[in-house]
Amino acid sequence: MKINLFDLSLDELKEFVKQLGEPQFRGKQIFEWMYRGAESFEDMTNIPKSLREKLSENSFLGGMSIYEKYVSKIDETRKYLLQLSDGNFIETVLMKYEYGYTVCVSSQVGCKMGCKFCASTVNGWVRNLTPGEIIGQILCVQKDLGQRISNIVMMGIGEPFDNFENVLKAIQLMNSPEGLMIGQRHISVSTCGLVDKIRTLADMKMQITLLISLHAPSDERRSQIMPVNNKFNINELMSACDYYIKETGRRISFEYTLISGVNDTMEEADTLASLVKGKLCHVNLIPVNKVEESGFSKSSRERVEAFKRRLEKHGLVATVRREMGSDINAACGQLRNKKTKQ
Ligand code: SAH
Repeated sequence: MKINLFDLSLDELKEFVKQLGEPQFRGKQIFEWMYRGAESFEDMTNIPKSLREKLSENSFLGGMSIYEKYVSKIDETRKYLLQLSDGNFIETVLMKYEYGYTVCVSSQVGCKMGCKFCASTVNGWVRNLTPGEIIGQILCVQKDLGQRISNIVMMGIGEPFDNFENVLKAIQLMNSPEGLMIGQRHISVSTCGLVDKIRTLADMKMQITLLISLHAPSDERRSQIMPVNNKFNINELMSACDYYIKETGRRISFEYTLISGVNDTMEEADTLASLVKGKLCHVNLIPVNKVEESGFSKSSRERVEAFKRRLEKHGLVATVRREMGSDINAACGQLRNKKTKQ
């Protein structure tokens, strides 16, 4: 089995090269080529031909390709349908902000979390992405765009904490000075609330931004729309959040999707406020995006504003997330395995 060199850290690549009987400094040269966008081993002109041959016998460079690309007419958001080396498909989104380009990265092929409002879980879970496949999305988009990506949000298909080790390794690769050189503070990870992993991450004291998909302030309602709540309830989630804030000193962002008639009453705003009040946090309201299968619809604009004002009255900082790329189904919760493996 050939290995994907993007799955390796710099040290692991040096070790790999050593096992091929070559000096370790070649590992660093190869690593630099990879992150400078070399398409093939042939491009690596300072690597001896004999080593390039050994490399192609034993390994490959990502094996990921852009199968289709959709560009929004509203806001320049781009959505990529990427094909992986085993034929599976994932989606990745590029967004343009004043401060630079952000890529929204997937962590799994499909998702097993079952949130009722989200398209990513409709066809279930197929497999985890490897670290190289997570990094590969950024490299694919960067190459297509021809500009540096400065921010990453792990908010594409999948539950990042259900693929914890690979996601952490991918973040280290994003950080690597010889790699993508994206600082931890420019990386955000969103979870539906896998409490044990939130605590582990807190212990690591990383400087990434953590987002928590909350979406309902009571166990009864949250369990109806997010099955994960049956495993880790709101109480457990909130105490893990407190622990995270205490250990890292980082502000948490609570995401709250507003679904008409489901979780958008003023009473729920009050309960939400009492739940998160006093925490170092921020509430991000997201009028629910359309997903055919869910049957849910957005709260009205007035309701969204009223909900926001109500939270502010309690002293909370709340924002309404700007919807991007909705004409190409690239907005939050709209990504899915649109094509199945060929
Ligand atoms: N599994 C992780 C990562 C997905 S991030 C998580 O749940 O956090 C995608 C964000 O969009 C999450 O906050 C998710 O709850 C939210 N989302 C899902 N479906 C949505 C929809 N239809 N409209 C708006 N937001 C949605």
